[in-house]
Amino acid sequence: MILQNQIIIPPPVQALLKRLNKAGFSAYAVGGCVRDSLLGNPPQDWDICTSARPEEIKACFSDRRTILTGERYGTVTVLHEDACYEITTFRTESGYSDNRHPNRVAFLDSLQDDLARRDFTVNAMAADADGHITDCFDGLNDLENGQIRCVGEATERFSEDALRILRALRFSSKLGFSIAPKTSDAIHALKNRLHAVAPERLRKELCGLLCGKAAGTVAREYADVLCVLIPELQRCIGFKQYNHHHIHDVWEHTLRVLEQVPPEEGLRLAALFHDIGKPAAFSMDKQLVGHFYGHAVISAALSETILRRLRYDNATVQQVTFLVREHSFFLPEGNEKRMRKLLAAFEPERLRQLLLLRRADAVGTGTRTEEAADRIMKNALLLLDDVLQKDDCFSLRQLAVNGGDLMALGLPQGPIIGSILRHLLDAVIDGRIQNNRADLLSYAQKINSELEYD
Ligand code: ATP
Ligand code: MG
Repeated sequence: MILQNQIIIPPPVQALLKRLNKAGFSAYAVGGCVRDSLLGNPPQDWDICTSARPEEIKACFSDRRTILTGERYGTVTVLHEDACYEITTFRTESGYSDNRHPNRVAFLDSLQDDLARRDFTVNAMAADADGHITDCFDGLNDLENGQIRCVGEATERFSEDALRILRALRFSSKLGFSIAPKTSDAIHALKNRLHAVAPERLRKELCGLLCGKAAGTVAREYADVLCVLIPELQRCIGFKQYNHHHIHDVWEHTLRVLEQVPPEEGLRLAALFHDIGKPAAFSMDKQLVGHFYGHAVISAALSETILRRLRYDNATVQQVTFLVREHSFFLPEGNEKRMRKLLAAFEPERLRQLLLLRRADAVGTGTRTEEAADRIMKNALLLLDDVLQKDDCFSLRQLAVNGGDLMALGLPQGPIIGSILRHLLDAVIDGRIQNNRADLLSYAQKINSELEYD
């Protein structure tokens, strides 16, 4: 692949760049948007850098809404054609004593100096209003060779800001790139510096790493780095299972499950943690077969500790611990009744995720083919869609009668109403009666007379 040295700048971005140029400033699209355009991937957002100082940027766009995102850091957000653009003054950064924000920011006049502070060569390219690329650090070459390489001396760059260690893994996973040898050596050597980085900053990069297309490969090669963030993983590495269902150790199995689930944050985290409690749950019977009784519950408890430590929000903690705890539930093969029962217990979306994790878990054992796992999985997913589409009844809300209807029959107000409703729901889920008013009411009367008789 030979990359061109020009990209297409979208008209709104071009308009912003030209406005700054007209006022006598140099201005460029920079970083991720240039990298992604060169790769033919649509950029998420367009960042702009310029020689204009923050107050000059504001003056330049006095007819637009501008928000000073951080005067100290030289960023002005400009609202333009219903989108937000971050325009940042050329700058150097130094000293991250709190590992969150640079201590000193100095504004600069030259693009080259601004590019020099950036993390990786593929992130250190800029494009002018016509899309012509400035590439001072051989980023185009690295992009072509699929390589993440630090701008300048790797050891120095990771010492300045340890988050870059995790960013390197994130980009490697997202783009499927290798990491250049010196950059890789420095990552392994300096990984412990990640301890000093704020969890909020780590979390975002960890999510990118786990959701990338090469997540399994990167996690395998940089397991030592992941263990700095999540020491609980350490025991899984090389932990033999002594069980004919599994040909891989716990860590290798985990990586395979990680690769097999779709790249959604909750699912990928659940894959990473689903067996993390196995070493603690291990026992061996007289036949020398390994067992892991109760491992899902231990894994769920460990997941919660880890996710809280990484400052994940409650919704993610709940989602992931649920998936981990329930990951070894029984698959409802071709049985609508069982699917309705599962839907009575789990939200449809959670059940879908659970099925996806189940499938990945089966493939990850190494003893079942993807085709075999898919057959079971596809049937279960089709069944799920079918039950949902038919609007089958699996919750009290969907029952064709409610408490008021039962009281109208003369049943006494109180807990008995709730109890009868649940009996009715069970009967409908089991397929013993139809979900229609007449059948339900006569069945309710029958249950009630049996209760009275009792
Ligand atoms: P994505 O499309 O995934 O957001 P990106 O390259 O835009 O990728 P950002 O985290 O948004 O990544 O950062 C924007 C740019 O800022 C990067 O391309 C890089 O040039 C620079 N950058 C960001 N964080 C750092 C850092 N910690 N050290 C050095 N440069 C950084
Ligand atoms: Mg970005």
